[in-house]
Amino acid sequence: MTLLKSWVASANSAACPFPLNNLPYGVFSTGGDDPRCGVAIGDQILDVAAAEDAGLIDISEGPLFDVPFWNEVMEEGPELWAALRARLTEILAEGSADEAAAKDMLVSQAEAEMHLPFLVSEFTDFYASKNHATNVGTMFRGAENALPPNWLHIPIGYNGRASSVVVSGTDVRRPWGQLKGPNDDAPRFAPCARWDLELEMGAIVGTASDGPVTVAEADEMIFGYVLLNDWSARDIQAWEYQPLGPFQAKATATSISPWIVTKAALDPFRTDTPEREKELLAHLKDDGPMLYDIDLQIGLAPEGKDESIIARTNYSEMYYSSAQQLAHHSTSGCPMTPGDLLGSGTISGAEKDQRGALLELSWGGKEPIKLDTGEERSFLEDGDTLTLYGAAKGEGYMIGFGECAGKTLPALADPYER
Ligand code: MN
Repeated sequence: MTLLKSWVASANSAACPFPLNNLPYGVFSTGGDDPRCGVAIGDQILDVAAAEDAGLIDISEGPLFDVPFWNEVMEEGPELWAALRARLTEILAEGSADEAAAKDMLVSQAEAEMHLPFLVSEFTDFYASKNHATNVGTMFRGAENALPPNWLHIPIGYNGRASSVVVSGTDVRRPWGQLKGPNDDAPRFAPCARWDLELEMGAIVGTASDGPVTVAEADEMIFGYVLLNDWSARDIQAWEYQPLGPFQAKATATSISPWIVTKAALDPFRTDTPEREKELLAHLKDDGPMLYDIDLQIGLAPEGKDESIIARTNYSEMYYSSAQQLAHHSTSGCPMTPGDLLGSGTISGAEKDQRGALLELSWGGKEPIKLDTGEERSFLEDGDTLTLYGAAKGEGYMIGFGECAGKTLPALADPYER
C-alpha cells in the first residue's frame, strides 16, 4: 500500500495524518451550528450529512449522517461499512467526477469544533500490557508476585463509566477522594496528589452480540479505534482497589481522540500478538494478526511552556488484542452493544522511556522524570496539558489518529460547596 492521491491537495503528503488511505469518522460543528458526521481528509472535513442530503452518498434507506454520532452507521454492519468507505474513496480520489459537487461540502478543520464521535454505550477498561502489569505489580506487590496468577490466561478488566468519557480538548479537574492516612483507621478526604494518565487505545464495538463470540467474530465486530487516556488518581486507587478493583480512581474522566480510525484503514498494519508464555484456552486463541503497528507518544506541556515527549511506545506491545478482550468479555453471555468502548489497558514497552503512565515512568514517584524545560514530574501538576499522539506509518503515508489532549485544572477548594 502506498499513498492514495486525493483532489484535496493537503491530503497528499507523507506527513499528513489524514490522507485518502485513512478517512476517519468524527462529529463536528462550526459556529455553533448542529453537530453532524464528518470525514477527515487532509486539513479539511467532508460534511457527509450534506453529501448525503445532496444525494452524493446514497447507501441506506434512511439518512445516517445528520446526527451527532456514528452509532447508526455501526449498527448497519460490515457490509455498509465497506460500501461507505468505497464511496468516500471514490468521491475524494484524484480525478473524481464528484469533485465539483463535493468541493462545497468541505469545512476547514481549523474552523471546526470536534465533539464525541459516538454515543458511548458502556466503557470497559483492561490491563493487558505485560510490561505495564509487571511494572505496576512489582511496585505494589514485589517482583515475585508482579503478575497475578490469572494474568497470562485472561485479559483482566473492570467495568468503567461511559458517562466519564470526554472528547479531546476537554479540561479535566483534579478530583478529591478518600486517601489512606498514616494508618488504616485514619483515612482522609483530600485532593488527589498522585494524578496520572494512562496511554491506551480504545476499540469501538460496532455490532451487537448475544452470547459468546469467537476471537475472529469479535474482530469482525470492531468498528474502529481511538486514542484513549484513562486519567487515574493513584492515591485514591491504592486505598480503594482491593478486592473489587478501581472505582473512583478511574471515574473522573476518560479522554478519547475525536476521529474514529476504521479497522479497514488500519488493515495494512496488522501484527501478531507476542508469543504466548502459557498456552491460552482454545476460545481465547487468535488465528490471525489482530494487533496493529501504531506508534504512540505522550506529550506533557506545563502551563505556558513547551511540550516534552515523555514516552514513546507502540500498540503492538500488547499481550492481548482488542478482539481477544471482546471475546473474553462475551464469554459470560454479557451482551455487547454498538458503541461499547474497550480500553486496551496502559501500553508500555520494555524500556524506561516506553512506559505509558507516570506511575511507571517515575517509579511510583521515587524517580521523577526530567522535562525538556528543566522541570521535574512524578505526577501531573495543575495546568499541565497532556497529549497522546498515534500514527501507523506506511510507505510514504501515515494513518494518523489526531490528538487526545486534556489540561488538568486545579482541584476545587471545597467540592461540596454549593
Ligand atoms: Mn486503564
